[in-house]
Amino acid sequence: MSIQNKTALVTGASRGIGAAIATRLAKDGFNVIVNYAGSEAAAAKVVAEIETSGGKAVAAQADVSDPGAVKRMFDLAESAFGGVDVLVNNAGIMKLSALAEADDALIDGQIDINLKGSINTMREAAQRLREGGRIVNLSSSVAALKFETYGIYAATKGAIEILTGILAKEMRGRGITVNAVAPGPTGTELFLDGKPEAVIEKLSKANPLERLGTPEDIANAVAFLVGPDGGWINGQVLRANGGMI
Ligand code: NAP
Repeated sequence: MSIQNKTALVTGASRGIGAAIATRLAKDGFNVIVNYAGSEAAAAKVVAEIETSGGKAVAAQADVSDPGAVKRMFDLAESAFGGVDVLVNNAGIMKLSALAEADDALIDGQIDINLKGSINTMREAAQRLREGGRIVNLSSSVAALKFETYGIYAATKGAIEILTGILAKEMRGRGITVNAVAPGPTGTELFLDGKPEAVIEKLSKANPLERLGTPEDIANAVAFLVGPDGGWINGQVLRANGGMI
């Protein structure tokens, strides 16, 4: 699809992978909605960086787990830029625990944000995305690797992969593709916070390229799927993890 006058809505774009995706898509020519839940200043900084580089962006506060807030965010995108062409479901949290020790807050929080949040935005996008649009959902390589203590998180991502395929089929006739990108360990707060150096080192070396992914590595994969060269890829999960399979 040609990128001129197209709008991309990126959830959780105030930092980490989402900020890299927003910045990359703006560089590629998309108008960008920079969604955040609480980090207003960080989102404003991403918007300012995009504008300084000659791009167009607007920050939009919305907790993706709140369907009303998601609706209002799409309204804002439509009034700012005339419509939405691309949805990148990136907002997410990760809380690790063996299932036996998992408390209700850990379970509900991840299901509400990672799964229900993505369902809320996908439902809205399914109703409102313009013809020829693209949806990319952020899964995780742990959905396939099934590491211990990642159970609830990986389950939310596994569900997202299933929804990716089903929504791709439901978009028949509208020229809209739906794919997932499943990063491996990537150097952001979500991955690094609270992990001992030795664990980070071990996971960094778990792929044959022997390094952590960067937010830009993941943004490159998303840019391909939503850009002109990605149009024939539909209903797929792209495991962007340096070969950690
Ligand atoms: P991060 O650095 O922790 O950033 C998370 C982003 O999500 C922030 O912008 C945060 O904004 C936003 N967010 C959190 N809760 C939200 C909510 N309820 N509504 C709207 N936005 C919300 O995380 P990341 O590493 O970049 O991860 C991005 C995505 O990649 C996630 O889906 C994650 O599961 C996936 N992933 C990451 C890795 C990795 O190793 N980093 C690996 C595989 C998959 P606020 O600060 O405003 O809340």
